[in-house]
Amino acid sequence: MTSNQYDMQNPLTQYPQPQFPKQLQPVPGLASKMDPVPDHGETSYRGLGRLKGRKALVTGGDSGIGRAAAIAFAREGADVAINYLPEEQSDADEVMKLIEAEGRKAVAIPGDLKSEAFCQELVAKANLDLGGLDLLANVAGRQKSVESIAELTTEQFDETFKTNVYALFWLSKAALPLLPAGATIINTASIQAYQPSATLLDYAPTKSAIVAFSKALSKQVLPKGIRVNVVAPGPFWTPLQTSGGQTQDVVQKFGSEVPMKRPGQPAECAPIYVFLASQESSYITGEVFGVTGGNTLP
Ligand code: NAD
Ligand code: MG
Repeated sequence: MTSNQYDMQNPLTQYPQPQFPKQLQPVPGLASKMDPVPDHGETSYRGLGRLKGRKALVTGGDSGIGRAAAIAFAREGADVAINYLPEEQSDADEVMKLIEAEGRKAVAIPGDLKSEAFCQELVAKANLDLGGLDLLANVAGRQKSVESIAELTTEQFDETFKTNVYALFWLSKAALPLLPAGATIINTASIQAYQPSATLLDYAPTKSAIVAFSKALSKQVLPKGIRVNVVAPGPFWTPLQTSGGQTQDVVQKFGSEVPMKRPGQPAECAPIYVFLASQESSYITGEVFGVTGGNTLP
């Protein structure tokens, strides 16, 4: 699936609308196996040199919103390290090729963010292999819908918080001593921080925590010249959703609940990550940007 992101057109019909086929994959899911395959900007994103010479680490960079950000960062001139789970190697390989095709350095660092030790290793390796670090995009996340609190296990609650919140803390803590003035951190929350679904009792509060953490951190690190901002997506067509993030009934009509009446494609999220990463957003920190298909943030 591709679309020209630059010519004026009706956004309602720019990308596929529901119904979608049922397509359950085991967690974490592969973008390559989705129907339709998401648009991460592979054939469309055009860079303008806004991140020339920058050194970026993108978690969840194999697929979905993270892949779209990684491709865009490379097309804007950044060298990019991506993190993902070992099961996602085939998706990650596609991203590595796209980064290299831009003449940029691509570094693949698979591993589980639920481990503090791994988070520390990840940042150290990215810093070493890229020859520095000045852009941290925390995009990885875990979401599994559960109908009732009675079926929501402590194990799941723990895993969701470890992946979505603790990893953010561990990665930020490891990265900050390495980041120069001008560096940027971009975290990924969700519309769920503000309009939580009944079936996302663990996930939704992780996203509120990400908003509060990011605002607090932005104040703490601004004296060093480092900015921290948040992207809060609405429904996006990614493996997170089709591998259990929603029930397959919801997947079939995914996006129909927002005013835009369709899910966002990852490519539609990339420009805000680029903007928040680049010097163009120099006077913006501690903010949350909704990319929600019209389901407005408070
Ligand atoms: P995605 O499945 O493409 O990306 C999520 C990535 O998280 C995976 O590719 C995987 O590499 C990574 N991940 C998960 N658990 C991990 C772990 N333990 N260790 C290392 N990596 C791990 O889906 P996406 O929708 O692009 O998700 C990206 C972010 O966007 C997530 O934070 C998600 O919560 C957020 N988000 C998504 C939507 C949506 O509708 N898709 C809406 C709002 C927010
Ligand atoms: Mg993935």
